[in-house]
Order: sequence, then C-alpha cells, then structure tokens
Amino acid sequence: MRVLRDVLKQAQEDGVAIAHFNVSDLVLLKAVFTTARELNVPVIVGASEGERNFMGVRQIAALVRSLREEFDFPIFLNADHTHQLPEAVRAAEAGFDAIVFDATALPFEENVTRTKEVVEKLKAINPGILVEGELGDIGTGSEIHEEAPHSTKGLTTPDEAEEFVYSTGIDILAPAVGNMHGMLQSMVRGETKKRLDITRIAEIKRVTRVLLTLHGASGTDDEDLRKAIDAGINIVHINTELRVAWRHGLEDALAKQPHEVVPYKILLLAMESVKQVTRSRLALFNGR
Ligand SMILES: [Zn+2]
Repeated sequence: MRVLRDVLKQAQEDGVAIAHFNVSDLVLLKAVFTTARELNVPVIVGASEGERNFMGVRQIAALVRSLREEFDFPIFLNADHTHQLPEAVRAAEAGFDAIVFDATALPFEENVTRTKEVVEKLKAINPGILVEGELGDIGTGSEIHEEAPHSTKGLTTPDEAEEFVYSTGIDILAPAVGNMHGMLQSMVRGETKKRLDITRIAEIKRVTRVLLTLHGASGTDDEDLRKAIDAGINIVHINTELRVAWRHGLEDALAKQPHEVVPYKILLLAMESVKQVTRSRLALFNGR
C-alpha cells in the first residue's frame, strides 16, 4: 500500500488533486469510500476536532484502517483543523496519516512558533506523518452562513507563505486564496459561486514548492477549481456540500417513509444523496 505522501506526489505529476471529504458518521464515510472505489481514485477522509469528538479519535482511525486493509484501497485519514498540540498528538498516536494544525487565530510569528513545535513533536511520533500548516483567513465553521464572514487577515501573500513554510518545516500549506469555510444560502441555491485567485495560487506554489490544500471549497466555481489544480493545489476540501446533501437526503427519506423506523432503510437514502456529491467532486478533481 502506498503512503499518502507518494499518492500526493503521483497526483501532482498527473495534474490531478486528491479529494478530502469530512465525515462525522458512517453514512458519510460509506458514501465517500464507495464512490472513490467506483471511480478507482485515492481519497482522504477528514475529521475535525468536533467530528473526532463525536466519533472517537481511535474509532474513526480503526474504521478507515479497516477499509484500507480489507479492500487494499488508498483511503487516508486526516485530523482536520487541530488547534492544540495534545489533540494533534492523540491523532498521530491513533495512526492518522496527516494533521492540519490551525493556529491562524494567532499573529504570524506565534503561528510559526506553534506550528514548528507541532511538526517536530509529530514527526517524532511518526516520521511519515504529513503536517499541514495554515496561513491567512478562511473563516471557521463548515455551515450555512447568513452573510459573508468579515475577513480580518485577508489573503495569503507569497512572501509570508515562503517564510512560513521555510520556518516551520510543514509538508503541506493551506493558504487563503479566495476560499472560505461554509457556504452562503445563495451558494446552496446555486445562485452564487466562490471565486479563486489563481495567479496567487501559482505564485505561492512557485515560491514554496510544497503541497497545497484548498480548504472550504464547497460552492466554488468548477472552472476555478480546475484552474486551481493546474496552478498547484494538491488537496481539495469539501465538507459543507456533503452536510447539505446528508440533511436533504435524510429529510427526503423521512418524508417518503413516514412510518419507517429501521435506521439503515432511512439512512440508505441519505447515503445516496451524499454519494451524488462525492461522485461529482471526485470526477472533477481527477479530471474525469
Ligand atoms: Zn478547513
């Protein structure tokens, strides 16, 4: 079985990106795994601190590992947006393949210091683990926002990105390049799309030469996503679109089967709804 670093390197050579889907239950995990297998493309499953608290750090690690081993399939696990060192250590010890350390709430210098410390600690636990650092403001909460969040730090500059990568030793950088966590109501309705700063992505890639992740990609213009991958994005995070599909699928299931009480009969429809989204995003990111 190839490790995540090799899978990402191969994707970069092939000009495609690996999809990262957040999961908080078995419905989402099964939907992600099933469609990745259908399309025969590697995939990353992400669990934020909230999602890990709900599922259990070791429990989600065991589930993903069991899928990888039983089906000999390249599915990987990422500890998304981890804010404290002890939480990062817990995920590394549980066998996560990658960890996003998010100290963007802190000033630049402190972000550098904290991220560097995490890189050193995690590599001591597992030299193969990939550590991602974050720079710039991409908002918080993969939810439906009433209005666009007020950006304080703005977009990541290539100069800052270069210094951050060089000073911290991170494997992957998550920049702010027009992306944003969550979606606006108008995006859920399909009336508006997020737009990306492609030139900035290309410039950040040129000066840092590290793997790049696009967070908060739900509701982004498809053509911008293709261009962003061409410009150097290696991992694309989709969460809110899946959560919306999960909820709509569940509502449909309950409406269609008002007297049903068997969970797996109800949840099957929620899973089908999520699969439509994962299938379309996997196809797009893999140039299909
Ligand atoms: Zn994120």
